[in-house]
Amino acid sequence: MKYYSLNNKEHHSNFENAVVRGLAPDKGLYFPEYIPQLSTEFISNLKKMDPAEIGKHVISPFVGNEIPEAELQKILEETLSFDFPVKPIEPDVSVLELFHGPTLAFKDVGARFMAGSLGYFIQKGNLGKVTVLVATSGDTGGAVANGFLGVDGIDVIILYPEGKVSDIQEKQLTTLGQNIQAIEVDGTFDDCQGMVKKAFLDNEITDRRQLTSANSINLARWLPQMFYYFLAYRQLETNNKIAFSVPSGNFGNICAGLLAKKIGLPIDTFVAANNANDTITRFMESQNYQAKQSVQTISNAMDVGDPSNFVRILELFGNHFKDLKQHLMAMSYTDSETNKAIRSVYEEHNYLMDPHGAVGYLGLKDFLKINPEYSGVFLETAHPVKFLETVEKASGAKVVMPDSIAGILNKKKKSFQLSTYAELKEFLLEVD
Ligand SMILES: *Cc1c(COP(=O)(O)O)cnc(C)c1O
Repeated sequence: MKYYSLNNKEHHSNFENAVVRGLAPDKGLYFPEYIPQLSTEFISNLKKMDPAEIGKHVISPFVGNEIPEAELQKILEETLSFDFPVKPIEPDVSVLELFHGPTLAFKDVGARFMAGSLGYFIQKGNLGKVTVLVATSGDTGGAVANGFLGVDGIDVIILYPEGKVSDIQEKQLTTLGQNIQAIEVDGTFDDCQGMVKKAFLDNEITDRRQLTSANSINLARWLPQMFYYFLAYRQLETNNKIAFSVPSGNFGNICAGLLAKKIGLPIDTFVAANNANDTITRFMESQNYQAKQSVQTISNAMDVGDPSNFVRILELFGNHFKDLKQHLMAMSYTDSETNKAIRSVYEEHNYLMDPHGAVGYLGLKDFLKINPEYSGVFLETAHPVKFLETVEKASGAKVVMPDSIAGILNKKKKSFQLSTYAELKEFLLEVD
């Protein structure tokens, strides 16, 4: 498989180069040159295969022969080593729990697959040592840190805004050690992001260190998210048409779902469930794309005003709005609606949703009101414990701490503190 840049279809790249670079030199997102098709036989055999086998069928056409089969198998076994259960909540409403990975966030799958792929390309020998430099507002950092922990040839440096991530998230970033370093920035997430961008353009740094980013536009984080939809689909027992409701921020996850559909998974419709950051909801009504400054909400991993992956969705549908509109519906919800949903689902069904999952639930319910012939699944993208205060306040319930988290809370935080770009630069030039 070759990939082109969405800014210039004449620019082509193989999988390895696209994964190492992240973005094309013209800053465009990479997109596959063609959409492979899975056989109907594969789809009807999904129940009989194990997750890694399913993953291999789905991802192989995109990786081609750039990662040998045995190596790919190993990467997939590590990527998919936890459960992806679908649980019924109400008639025709089920939840797909994507929070059983090591950092309790769905981003674990993408981060682990990327770590495995990049680790393989480095160990193959022609890349040298690589530094993954990434800014996080919460979940990305933990998943990336955990995924890359102990991978030879890769140093990971994570910038996070001091005092603006939850305790659990901070511990997940700052207690791992080994090849993972956490930098606590006196500033906002945007400041962290700004410093990272500046470092990528700074020749003095890039002469000394080979930098790569691990953000959600990277192919190796985007593509493996298709697995969720295959692993969920095979658990469904229905003859109805199927809709998935995906709590969306940067639109990487839902874009992977739409790609899963395009390569042959029989899902009919997707609901993009948004919080007050409603750029795509407005676009789907007006056909007019107007990014806006992000606003802070209780589902903060979706506080994105200009979702980077949406251009990939447009490309998947050949930029035909009518066609897109048939398969994608977008909805937005306020924090107060989200809190109410957390409470009512807890009271009526004894199920505790996190704020992101609750937005997904609301999107699905509104979709089913207009489309009662469907059965639907909403995605729970994080464990409620990661948003402890919000969830306990909204539901009146006590969140039970999973063992993996209870352990981490007693570990000692280790971070390097700084407040200016000059200090970051010094850090990157000195530390090896
Ligand atoms: C990242 C994240 C999202 C949004 O996913 P996108 O792929 O960026 O749309 C939703 N929920 C949680 C908990 C997340 O961490």
